[in-house]
Amino acid sequence: MRDEFLPFHRPSVGAAEIEAVSEVLRSGWLTTGPRVKQFEEQFAEYVGARHAIALNSGTAALHLSLAAIGLSEGDEVIVPSNTFTASAEVVTYFGARPVLVDVDRETLNLDVAAMEAAITAATRAVIAVHFGGQPCEMDALLPVARSHGLAVIEDAAHALPSAYRGRTIGTIGDFTAFSFYATKTLTTAEGGMITTNDDQHVERIRRLSLHGISEGGWERGDAGRSWFYEVMEPGFKYNMPDIAAAIGIEQLRQSDEFRERRRQIAAAYTRAFASTEAIGPPAVRDDVKHSWHLYVILLDLDRLAIDRDQFVSELRQRNIGTSVHFIPLHLHPHYQHAYGYAKGDFPAAEWVYDRSISLPIFPSMTDDDVRDVTDALLDIARQHRR
Ligand SMILES: *Cc1c(COP(=O)(O)O)cnc(C)c1O
Repeated sequence: MRDEFLPFHRPSVGAAEIEAVSEVLRSGWLTTGPRVKQFEEQFAEYVGARHAIALNSGTAALHLSLAAIGLSEGDEVIVPSNTFTASAEVVTYFGARPVLVDVDRETLNLDVAAMEAAITAATRAVIAVHFGGQPCEMDALLPVARSHGLAVIEDAAHALPSAYRGRTIGTIGDFTAFSFYATKTLTTAEGGMITTNDDQHVERIRRLSLHGISEGGWERGDAGRSWFYEVMEPGFKYNMPDIAAAIGIEQLRQSDEFRERRRQIAAAYTRAFASTEAIGPPAVRDDVKHSWHLYVILLDLDRLAIDRDQFVSELRQRNIGTSVHFIPLHLHPHYQHAYGYAKGDFPAAEWVYDRSISLPIFPSMTDDDVRDVTDALLDIARQHRR
């Protein structure tokens, strides 16, 4: 057994990020400026989108995507139940209603048939969460959304870099929201990005990201009147600072390398778990590129004498950190009180929740770390077999 605790996640930041941040600090320009512009340009190029707008969180990216489609009070937006609360919370900022739907037991992504069944006259959009970094079934989802006039907003907080049938995530739906939170595949500590090919809404999203002001601070060239600006509407304070963008630029350079290491770790896990039926590896479609943000196993509870919670604490006793993604939204008190959801509403999401564990999968894990994880899991499965 390993004697040092292996955390569920450790961000991959090193000398390059530290130097880039120091440079910004020494430059005298700390907030939104040249580094943000550079990060946006490089990010847009990396995913192959026409536009990228940097923000201070993935939640802000989801919020402004909904603002761009003009969501309003009484509207409905379809959201899968097994996601982080941010995916649904942003809908409520407009007085609109998040309509939860069940997921597919294999891909853990939104069930397109359930989505179609949930569409009403009030539905305006769907938030497609690419769970763990595996893209949703977009060729099934898009025609359903289009035929009902729904906007398609992708929650790609896990999906950098991911692709669906050769198309990079960030180029498919109307707006794609990325997160650069500390645990995500690319981090700026806190941060987010919207990518879109839609020329029409870009200026409005930029304006809304900074108090509804007509131009960003660094662009107000107009020599004699550098103090001049116009407030066009009430907006938000969602701009990304240059300190964060400097980290993002260095992270983006390493994005493919990071993904390749996560892919290797995932492959090693899947190989090891082939020896037991108690541990189900994630089901990966063969027409996608998976970012491997998460590696979620599904326990076969019929073959184990312990439940998921006990399995997690057995792992903790063997110094292995894990997590669970996600507690379905309909099981949280807020969604039950505000929208009348109850246990039993989404059986697949609950089935997944009862048996899922997210294993550590971050680029700086060594081969020994990976083996410690698989040894611990196989040992627990053996000791507690039924
Ligand atoms: C992390 C996450 C978000 C929110 O991103 P922030 O940058 O923390 O605001 C949204 N959706 C999902 C699925 C996430 O995992």
